[in-house]
Amino acid sequence: MPVNQHVSVIICAAGKGVRAGFEKNKLLRSMPGNTGGTVLEHTVHAFVAAGVGQIVVAAAERDKKEIERLLSPFPLCTVVTGGETRTRSVKNALSAVTGEIVLVHDGARPYVSGKIIADCITSVETYGSGICALPLTDTAVRAKEGFIADVPPREEMFAVQTPQGFRTAELRAAYEKVGAESYTDDSAVCAKFVRPPRLFIGEKENRKLTFAEDFLPAHMPPYVRTADSTERADVPALLFPQAQAVGNGRVGIGVDTHAFGKPQDYIVLAGIKIPAESGLFAHSDGDVLAHAVTDAILSAAGLRDIGYYFPDTDEKWEGADSMEMLRAALEKVKKAGFVPCNVSVAVQAQKPRLSKFIPTMSGNLAKVMELPLSAVGIAAGTNEGLGFVGEGRGITVTAAVLLQKAERG
Ligand code: MG
Repeated sequence: MPVNQHVSVIICAAGKGVRAGFEKNKLLRSMPGNTGGTVLEHTVHAFVAAGVGQIVVAAAERDKKEIERLLSPFPLCTVVTGGETRTRSVKNALSAVTGEIVLVHDGARPYVSGKIIADCITSVETYGSGICALPLTDTAVRAKEGFIADVPPREEMFAVQTPQGFRTAELRAAYEKVGAESYTDDSAVCAKFVRPPRLFIGEKENRKLTFAEDFLPAHMPPYVRTADSTERADVPALLFPQAQAVGNGRVGIGVDTHAFGKPQDYIVLAGIKIPAESGLFAHSDGDVLAHAVTDAILSAAGLRDIGYYFPDTDEKWEGADSMEMLRAALEKVKKAGFVPCNVSVAVQAQKPRLSKFIPTMSGNLAKVMELPLSAVGIAAGTNEGLGFVGEGRGITVTAAVLLQKAERG
């Protein structure tokens, strides 16, 4: 059970990204520096990691199919059609919300941290609302026709970000009163129709990707900042290793081997039946890939191994679907406070040939691991005829995983 089951999140993804000057929705672009996955997947994953109960994504009609496909590994996500304006989009999305608390977040803020999400939820629980905001560091002035008209005290000035959290019933009631007007965000709707919402202090890293240059990593070397640099988000990923998870990251590795010879005409890998001369001997369904991944995540979280939690002697797991075991292991890992960032799998099998099954295997693994497709890699190779793998007597799978500490609300 997710730690914040009572919280729903609305992600606004219906914008046109006009200011970024891209032809398609900027949320469907790769992350700055190609750190893996699209902006939208990263944003969604941040909330999945925070253990919320539901995510409603408001998408423009033209992007809806693509967004549904992209988010299919996230069972928490529902995609609804957004409106012409942000106000209309949130109103539409609110009708699908089931949680008693709702956070509204810009799809273009993929760097939202677990701490911000947890602080937002706590603020709603304590004060009825929580608006992520930063104190202004520059002096803000009010101007009229190019001349300073007024200098408000700086300590009273904040820049408002998202997420913005509310009690669902109150935000819904406020939106009932909105009519045809358009508001910049939900804090404005709440301020006008409910009560002044409460601010909590966010992080400057929670920036919004608005302009084309925002898609360039800040540390990108100057020589790639060319005139046509809007398209340079495709520079090699190696230049910009994903550093975000390092402090809270844990790696894990898992290896498993099973032998051929079971009288059946298929094997099971990542939950997919693959035709073979014989099956793999096992107490369970012999899904050697699922077993390796299970050990990798358990080990990364500092837990015991698959044999400890799912012993051969337990009849419950006789002929069991190993992807269900993986799911159960993932729940243990989440309970220990971690969520996966990515998983990488190497299969050594002389036979059968696996390449055409890999997309389905990856999709299945992504679903169970609650990861975007782009965070799941499966490579398959033979052993060049060497050893027991090369002689076709068995299959070995090695899996590596990166976990990230999940912040709790
Ligand atoms: Mg095994």
